[in-house]
Order: sequence, then structure tokens, then C-alpha cells
Amino acid sequence: MEKIRRTTIKELLTHPSEHEGSKVDVKGWVRTRRGNKNVQFVALNDGSTIKNLQIVFDLSKISEEQLKQVTTGSSLHVQGLLVASAGKGQSVEVQADDFELYGTAPAETYPLQKKGHTLEFLREKAHLRPRTNTFGAVLRIRHALAFAVHKFFNDKGFYYFHTPLITASDCEGAGAQFQVTTLPLDNLPLTEDGKVDYSADFFGKMTSLTVSGQLEGELGATALGCIYTFGPTFRAENSNTPRHLSEFWMIEPEMAFYEIEDNMDLAEEFIKYCIGYAMEHCADDIAFLAEHFDKELPERLDFVLKNDFVRLPYTEGIKILEESGKKFEFPVYWGVDLASEHERYLVEEHFKRPVILTDYPKEIKAFYMKLNEDGKTVRAMDVLFPKIGEIIGGSQREEDFDKLNGRIQELGLTGMEWYLDTRRYGTVPHSGFGLGFERLVLFVTGMQNIRDVIPFPRFPNNCEY
Ligand code: ATP
Ligand code: MN
Repeated sequence: MEKIRRTTIKELLTHPSEHEGSKVDVKGWVRTRRGNKNVQFVALNDGSTIKNLQIVFDLSKISEEQLKQVTTGSSLHVQGLLVASAGKGQSVEVQADDFELYGTAPAETYPLQKKGHTLEFLREKAHLRPRTNTFGAVLRIRHALAFAVHKFFNDKGFYYFHTPLITASDCEGAGAQFQVTTLPLDNLPLTEDGKVDYSADFFGKMTSLTVSGQLEGELGATALGCIYTFGPTFRAENSNTPRHLSEFWMIEPEMAFYEIEDNMDLAEEFIKYCIGYAMEHCADDIAFLAEHFDKELPERLDFVLKNDFVRLPYTEGIKILEESGKKFEFPVYWGVDLASEHERYLVEEHFKRPVILTDYPKEIKAFYMKLNEDGKTVRAMDVLFPKIGEIIGGSQREEDFDKLNGRIQELGLTGMEWYLDTRRYGTVPHSGFGLGFERLVLFVTGMQNIRDVIPFPRFPNNCEY
């Protein structure tokens, strides 16, 4: 092979005129091979784009025998002239002069043959599914969204604040935790009264994986002003739903001097920015997913971008649900924690657009949320989305030391002194929220199951790779 600098397929297909007429060097995996006795066409994909590059092999120059192992999934290095393509479906193609086979993928064993694998089948082969068109599209969109998150906050002057993954705080109130320990589980050290002796554990106390970085995020916000976290989050809930993972990524901005209205404005602007960014940078991938899975996807994304989110107090939401005449599986009454069917009724049937529900009963929300003057509701805000339900949960935080401490006592939470220091010293009004990153990816890709929008999903009874 000649010494030519390799070009990605994305570059060749985005700027074909810059390369047309010159010899190019491309590398990738074979998606399909077809043709006749004179000429063979290989669709080559290198992951840089959903689109394949057509490689044309002239059988008078390269023998059929040489191409025998060029099968779906094999990996190739090809050099040849980039020329305008006569065939439909592509603007340019490569007339192969020379090629090298990096690795074979025998059809008898390679699990990903041409077409038609179900998402369930691919979940069983999750270690290889990134090589499919579908998961390539999802993972490129996921990347674009992650990048958009950082860009949005950076451009707004927020600081990326790293909160710990291993934590000793056991009262974040967001869900069941995975314990972190080096103690021998088959021979636990015990205290005199027969309990596990955590002083012998690695950190000298009981520790777990974080369920939220918020409380530590508040320490950042009350020093740096506006911060955001973006990191792995772990919840040991046994919720086998299409919207829950045991390990997921959460984005948690926290802002000093923001009231709930500012918090809602930020949440709406943020989600719209991320969706718009993906639409601009991942048009091909979104079009592919729309064509194969969800025809209404582009319309739905566009609609969310162009319309204001409804802002509605919980109490009014309950009224609407009660008066809907709809038979829900779970009962509706003031004080109930809304089920997904209730959230989706409000969003999909009643308002037909995203809804920010505010001012929830304090009993069903976390201890740190700011109490309203009615003494019954707190300044919570959940953003509810079509197809997804809750995509964001947030609130204005209680900044008053006595009220917060009172709530902590009431609930019997301990080990909160470090957190209370934010209210003890230089307390300020502040707000924040948590966005489940995979729920955003679900919405933007139109996929149905959260296990299909993260490369290596973790859920009950499943921890492969
Ligand atoms: P849900 O009621 O849907 O279980 P939650 O109220 O427990 O969510 P929060 O504690 O408010 O969730 O977390 C903030 C956000 O994190 C949620 O709005 C959601 O987008 C996301 N999230 C929560 N739990 C999970 C999970 N198990 N898997 C993926 N995302 C999650
Ligand atoms: Mn929530």
C-alpha cells in the first residue's frame, strides 16, 4: 500500500469535491458486499457517520478469490480514486486499486448479519451492537448531547464541579443505594452488640455509591455561584421499567441566587438547547432513527423546541386529572405521588406539550425543598415530557437554617452537619435540578427503552462486560 493519509468517511462524504479525483485511503468495516462477475460493491462504514462509502472492486484487477473473506463485519484498508458515483444513493465512490484485509468475520459465527435484528436480540449482543447502524446513530447522538451539555453551561459561565461517586451520606433521599465495602462478606467483623463493624471497613464507616451529587453540588454553588455536575449515578431500586437504569448519568446544575422561576427558565432553555444542538449536528442519525423506528420523531423534537412548556401547580394538575373522566390504574387524589400514566396524561393528552409541575405536597418530596407559605407544599419543579414522563426533577432549596434543620430532625436524618453549614454560614436563596441524561437521549433518539441508549446498561440481574 502507498503512504497516503487516511481520511474518514464522514470527511469524504461531507466535502466530496475536495477529494474527488484524488487517491484516498480509507479504513472501516464491511456492511455489505454485492455485485456480479465483473464488479463488486462493498459498503464500508468507519463509525464516523451513519453513511457508508461505496467501494468498487473491478474483478479484472482484483480476483473474486481475493474478495472471498470480504464479508459483512470484516475490516478493510482500501486505497483508490475517489470519483463521482453513477449509482443512486451516493455522490462519490472509491475505485479500489489496492486493499488489505485487517480481520475476517466468518458469516457462520459473526452475529450481526445484514439486516433485521430486533433490539431485544441486539441487547443480548450488547458488546457488538455499537457496530450496527442503529446503535451507531444512538451513540453519536449521545455524544453530541453530552458535548452540548458542557457547551451550554460553559457558555453561561457555570463551572463543572466534580462530586464524589463514593459517599458516606446515606440520606440523599433519592433512592436505594449500592453499598461500597472491602469487608469479607462471608466473614463480617461484628461489634459487641452483633452489628457489622464498619470501623473495620475501608473508609472506617459505611459507604455507598452516590444516588445524586446535589448536596455536594450545593457546597459548590454557595462558593462558585453556578455549577453543574455531570457524572455517573447509581440506584439500587428494583425498577424493571423502560425508563430506569441501575447506573445512569445525571446532570445537576445548582445555582446561588436562583429562585424557582429562574430554575424553570434555565431547565427549559437547557433542554431546548440540547435538543436543538442534536438536531443541528446529528441530522443524518436522527433521520435514520426516524425512518426505521419512529416516523414522528423529527416533528416531536421540532414541536418541543418551538413551544413554551406549560407551568402548572401540582394542585391544579390533580384537579385536571380528577376531572378528566379517565380510568387510571392508580388512584388520583391530592397528596398522591403521580404515576407515569398521570404525568403522561397531562403532557400527551391534556396539554399536548411539556409540562413543568410545581409546588408539590411536601410529604412526597425531599427534605431540602423550600417550604411555601401555605406550609403544605414545597417549591419543587418536575419537568414532564411526552413519551418519557419525568425528565427533570428540581426545586428551590430551603435556605433557612431553622426550617431545614427542623425538617432534618423531623425525618431523623443524621450526619448532615456539613450540609447544614451551607445555611449556617452565608446562606443564600438557591435552586437546582437533576436531568437524567439517558432520558434526554431517549427523547432525542425516539428509542423506547433506556437500555438501548447507553452502551453497557446495568439493570437488575444484568451486569455484562
Ligand atoms: P422517577 O420518579 O422517574 O423514578 P425520581 O423522581 O426518582 O425519578 P430524581 O431523584 O428526581 O428521580 O432524579 C432526577 C432525574 O434523574 C429524574 O428526573 C430522571 O430523569 C433521572 N432518573 C432518576 N432515576 C433514574 C434511573 N433509575 N435511571 C435513569 N434515570 C433516572
Ligand atoms: Mn424526581
